[in-house]
Amino acid sequence: MLLLDGKQVAESVRAKISRDISVSLESGVRAPVLAVILVGNDPASQVYVRNKEKACAALGIESRSFKLPPDTSAEELHALIRSLSSDNGVDGILLQLPLPGGRQSRPFLDAIAPEKDVDGLHPYNQGLLSAQRPGLRPCTPTGIMRIFDYYGIGLEGKRAVVVGRSELVGRPLAFMLAAKGTDATVTLCHSRTKDLGAVCREADILCVAVGHPRLITADMVKEGAVVIDVGINRTESGLCGDVDFAEVSKVASAITPVPGGVGPMTITGLLANTVAAWKSRFGI
Ligand code: NDP
Repeated sequence: MLLLDGKQVAESVRAKISRDISVSLESGVRAPVLAVILVGNDPASQVYVRNKEKACAALGIESRSFKLPPDTSAEELHALIRSLSSDNGVDGILLQLPLPGGRQSRPFLDAIAPEKDVDGLHPYNQGLLSAQRPGLRPCTPTGIMRIFDYYGIGLEGKRAVVVGRSELVGRPLAFMLAAKGTDATVTLCHSRTKDLGAVCREADILCVAVGHPRLITADMVKEGAVVIDVGINRTESGLCGDVDFAEVSKVASAITPVPGGVGPMTITGLLANTVAAWKSRFGI
């Protein structure tokens, strides 16, 4: 069984991004700039933002943080997003989710200039993905595709099953796997899927992004399948994924651990998108 080490893949991709930045800077342009908006005091979100800032700094991407109180009005948040969207000194805008108090994020994500939408969640970029045209793609599925690439896992003609159909992970991942040139045959599952086990057992490539600890058990996995576990669940016994790692790793030919699998690749996707937005602004 091959352990798909997201940290190792992330290091390799980040080294490439770093070289790319250095070469591009030789043309005399300023360094890439990412604006990070954090509303409220959620401790997990604060940790995520700190990690993103650290990762940016390590590659020479400047991050500018905008930390707003939980009671920030919709008008104030819209005004900030508008001003960053039209600011030529900013290449990427990241709105840390979820917003506090169960506030809907969609109106704010829609307000981000599509060319600065480094999370790839603007409807314009979602449209480009479904049309198979170049654009900024959501970070987690992009990171997963890089894991396949790094380990030379061929996808053409494979049966892929994606469990979870969120805008953030499942749906864009299904589009990427089915895209021309990647050519997997994809089934997208969700909470209303009947006999999830039977569907999962058909998968050569099984990707799970649900948010239920150990939902996928060994009897739901085909012998030799490649298993990508996106889930991050905090349980009394610590962090775990959506896949029962101990048992499924006896059946799978390759599997991502939690932590250390998909997680490091999500931030890497953000760094890659920020650099792509920067290069496209300067036509590099
Ligand atoms: P969402 O809650 O947005 O979506 C969950 C999806 O799972 C929905 O489509 C839902 O179906 C489906 N689902 C729920 N229960 C079942 C079930 N019993 N069987 C089949 N499908 C089910 O979650 P996200 O996609 O945002 O995140 C999923 C997990 O991935 C979370 O644990 C999150 O923390 C983690 N995550 C990890 C990242 C990383 O970097 N490693 C990045 C992003 C997320 P329906 O649509 O019918 O409701």
